Amino acid sequence: MDFAEQLKSSVDIVKTIGEYVRLKRTGTTGRYMGLCPFHTEKTPSFNVNATMQRFKCFGCGQGGDIFAFVMEIERISFFEALKLVAERNGIAMPRREYTDPDSKLRGALMEMHEIAASTFQANLNSPNGLEARNYLAGRGVNPERITEFGLGISDPGGQQLVRKYGGRFAPEHLEQSGLVMKRQDGSGFFDRFRGRLMFPIHNESGKVIGFGGRALRSGDEPKYLNSPETPLYRKSYVLYNLHRAKDAIRKADYSVLVEGYMDVIGVYAAGVRNVVASCGTSLTNTQVRALKRHSDRVVVTFDPDAAGANAAERSIQMLLDESLQVRVVELEVDLDPDEYVKQNGADTYRGRLEKAPAYFHWLADRARKKFDMHTVEGRMQAFKFVAPAIQRIADRLERFAVANDVADYLGVDEKLVRDHFSKGTAERRVVNRGPEVPPNERLLLNSLLASERARTEVIPALREMAAIERFITKNVFKALFSLHAGGIPFRLADLEGRLGDADRDLLSVVIFADEVLEEEKAAIQASACLLSLRAQDPKSEIAGLRTLIKAAEREGNIQEVLRLAEELDRRSRREATSQL
Ligand SMILES: [Zn+2]
Repeated sequence: MDFAEQLKSSVDIVKTIGEYVRLKRTGTTGRYMGLCPFHTEKTPSFNVNATMQRFKCFGCGQGGDIFAFVMEIERISFFEALKLVAERNGIAMPRREYTDPDSKLRGALMEMHEIAASTFQANLNSPNGLEARNYLAGRGVNPERITEFGLGISDPGGQQLVRKYGGRFAPEHLEQSGLVMKRQDGSGFFDRFRGRLMFPIHNESGKVIGFGGRALRSGDEPKYLNSPETPLYRKSYVLYNLHRAKDAIRKADYSVLVEGYMDVIGVYAAGVRNVVASCGTSLTNTQVRALKRHSDRVVVTFDPDAAGANAAERSIQMLLDESLQVRVVELEVDLDPDEYVKQNGADTYRGRLEKAPAYFHWLADRARKKFDMHTVEGRMQAFKFVAPAIQRIADRLERFAVANDVADYLGVDEKLVRDHFSKGTAERRVVNRGPEVPPNERLLLNSLLASERARTEVIPALREMAAIERFITKNVFKALFSLHAGGIPFRLADLEGRLGDADRDLLSVVIFADEVLEEEKAAIQASACLLSLRAQDPKSEIAGLRTLIKAAEREGNIQEVLRLAEELDRRSRREATSQL
């Protein structure tokens, strides 16, 4: 068994996937379900099968083993996934070089980021860090928070990292790090971040993959300078603080979305641990999905000045599009959450979060202020103000529920509302649960996958059955037959390897459809399936045997011809008897 196989058999796929996706146990032993992290959905079609150690989404088709999952969600290579899974489970990797250039590059970049983070922190703690420490103290960030968030400062000289990296990393790796920049005349490198307050940005597993750098002196432009896109850091995927916040998000069953690094730290310091921010970009759907993996409820808290409100509006739309339940906390003008907490205290802020109104009520409240609510027309206008947002709700039932609720809230006749929404309300998303496999095929295949004894006992008989030709899963059966004929120990991966995409999909459908049986039960089930197949259609079985005999004759396989002829004879006699 190679290391990957060994690792796979010693780690728990449910636990590993469970760190990214909230999984619920289903009625069937060893099966778990959750919302798919790879596509937008409201009802779970993402399955994990603990016994088979595999996952499968019947919505978007993603599926595979633990490494396939980690590769996809962390967007890393197979080798890196192997390393990550081994590390998290405290299993030593065999010493081996990074083999593919991509992993090698990313390994080097990880190391550079670690060095940068500890260098920046040491700078902040040195006498040169006094100014920055004073600035942070002024903003109420105590030393404990500084350590917890790994804050630091970059050296103003622009050579500190370059010197630390010198000789240790290849120039082509340096160039892609986003931490140093090439001089225009090509004579070497200089540090990208100079004399800035540095916020390390982590991926979901807690590794530093980028930085946000805030100017410390007024007049330093830009105010915020962030790491560029690198092979490690893909802005649209990363949420600031998610690695620290995710447990709290699950516990509270909601997240708090703010805008900046300082907001996160301020709100976090107030005891609100479930807080995240998009990293200096407008919120993307990949970021929203990362949030949704931990809870589908979110409170957006923002400064209602024009820029803040517009940004919030965009974020909210994105959140709604991904089917999150959004509530809203609107702070006083010109106060960001960090300052609000400082002025009003942590308890007041937490109270506002708890009592935050649902987005559609908040929007309705804004509409109330705009229109004359004493008249029917005014109320209808207010409703029309909210209507476009309601219209965007993908789910028809939810759309109607929200529309009725808002109409009620604004005092608008529900009948008018229904008229307004009855046009153009075809369901936007169709859930595709994958192809249907008839129960007999499914049970038979599953018992064969589960039991060596079932394979030994049933496959020889099954091979000759014409009924197989009519199976939706006939290619899977045939691949299984030829593997079995090869005499090597059965492995699911080998079977998958022999299938095209469509058949591999069918195989997943089958694997996830039923409970995995113990050896003995599987063998019994396989025999029962075989009997019922034979009983179902004796005539076509006989026809099938005739075809097989002809084929064997053509091949000149006399032994096979004789054996099949004997079988045909037996069947024909049985068939004749049963008709009497
Ligand atoms: Zn999916």
